[in-house]
Amino acid sequence: GEVVGDDRAERKPNFTRDAGSCSDTVIKSGKGSYVETEDGRKLLDFTCGIAVTNLGHCHPKVSEAAAKQCMTLVHGQCSVAFHNPYLQLIDQLLPLMPHPSLDTFFFWNSGAEAVEASIKLARTATGRQNVIVMQGGYHGRTFGTMGLTRSKTIYSERVGPLMPGVFVTPFPFWHQMGLPQSTPEEELVRQCLFQLDMVLKQQTTAADTAAILIEPVIGEGGYIPAPASFLQGLRKICDQHGILLIHDEVQCGFGRTGKMFYSEYSGVRPDIMVMAKGLANGFPLSAIVSQKAIMDKMAPGTMGGTYAGNAVSCAAAVAVTKAFEEEKILQNVQARSKQLFAALEDFRKEPEIASVLIDVRGKGLMVGAEFGSPAVQAQGSDNNAGAAAKLPSKFASRVSAKCMERGMLLLTTSVFEVVRFMPPLNISEADMRKGIEIFKDAVREVVR
Ligand code: PMP
Repeated sequence: GEVVGDDRAERKPNFTRDAGSCSDTVIKSGKGSYVETEDGRKLLDFTCGIAVTNLGHCHPKVSEAAAKQCMTLVHGQCSVAFHNPYLQLIDQLLPLMPHPSLDTFFFWNSGAEAVEASIKLARTATGRQNVIVMQGGYHGRTFGTMGLTRSKTIYSERVGPLMPGVFVTPFPFWHQMGLPQSTPEEELVRQCLFQLDMVLKQQTTAADTAAILIEPVIGEGGYIPAPASFLQGLRKICDQHGILLIHDEVQCGFGRTGKMFYSEYSGVRPDIMVMAKGLANGFPLSAIVSQKAIMDKMAPGTMGGTYAGNAVSCAAAVAVTKAFEEEKILQNVQARSKQLFAALEDFRKEPEIASVLIDVRGKGLMVGAEFGSPAVQAQGSDNNAGAAAKLPSKFASRVSAKCMERGMLLLTTSVFEVVRFMPPLNISEADMRKGIEIFKDAVREVVR
């Protein structure tokens, strides 16, 4: 994260500067769409702890299930013995998978651990070593995943060498490709698939390539949904060359985009899918899922970890999956998404906003708003833009800070000037309206 100032270091001498890099607010409690700070402020939470507490803070049924499990069995250890929540969770997850071939699970604690496991599995299953990742992708900050993350240099600065055998291919996003915003989607996809073909001809031959790893909606890299035709193109290339397709749905999965998994929009079947974050609504739990034939290529004992598939986390996740159906969460995501997009599009019509809010994009309640200048829109870069056309510096961070002052948590993302909306999936219409108004006032204040 970014260092805010030295006064914090004075007040909190025993924290690394990395903790609290977005704010040094202390949260006392959370309920639904709000958190309460130590000094009694109620903040509307449009971050969900980075897309984790998707059903709101302390969802009664999830917390109750976890509390009950705490009194029953906390830790089982999946190599020693199964426990009931582990088995129940698999039963609950099976019908939610985007494709019936995804029928075999393994659990971990964090997203990064599960991503690493997906690479380990792909290498073992194919007998090949290299991995192709997307420019702008984020997969974690462990030693393995740092080498796969290409959204910002800060995540791996001064700690290399990173994991070798990783090749980067462009993702269809006009700004990152240095193209005008008006470039048609088909053209972006065509160029990206062409470059991927070049990567396979010039840098890592298919016979050496185990997997293509993609976030179907780029998260930390700027909230950019992959066009269906791009995911379909990747599937085709993987099929042609015996390469495994890995979808990292850690951030975009579990209802965030209005379907249980984003893959459902394109109908593309991944060979391996990675899940975490919303899976247990705040309890540490992640998973990979694949076909049994692929999964069973791993010898027993080669995957796992002490806390992998913890009983309390699994019990919470079981409650999460039940709540999705009982509380019609996906319907709410669709409705609130329409509300949010309509409001942001309206906002863009205001004369002083139109020239700074250059893009509103995303799916469901995974929505990014990008700030920039007309020169950026026209050229895909502001290298040659005149001073008059330039956006005030750190625009997105300033919007985020103003939102905080006005009572809402809103995060920025990527190397571009982007704020990301990830409110709870069960947020009410009134709270969504409130959040939108806070955002609009914050932007107006920064523009002035
Ligand atoms: N993949 C994606 C798409 C993510 O968004 C994240 C976390 N932001 C991770 C992996 C890593 O997850 P964790 O922080 O739980 O290790």
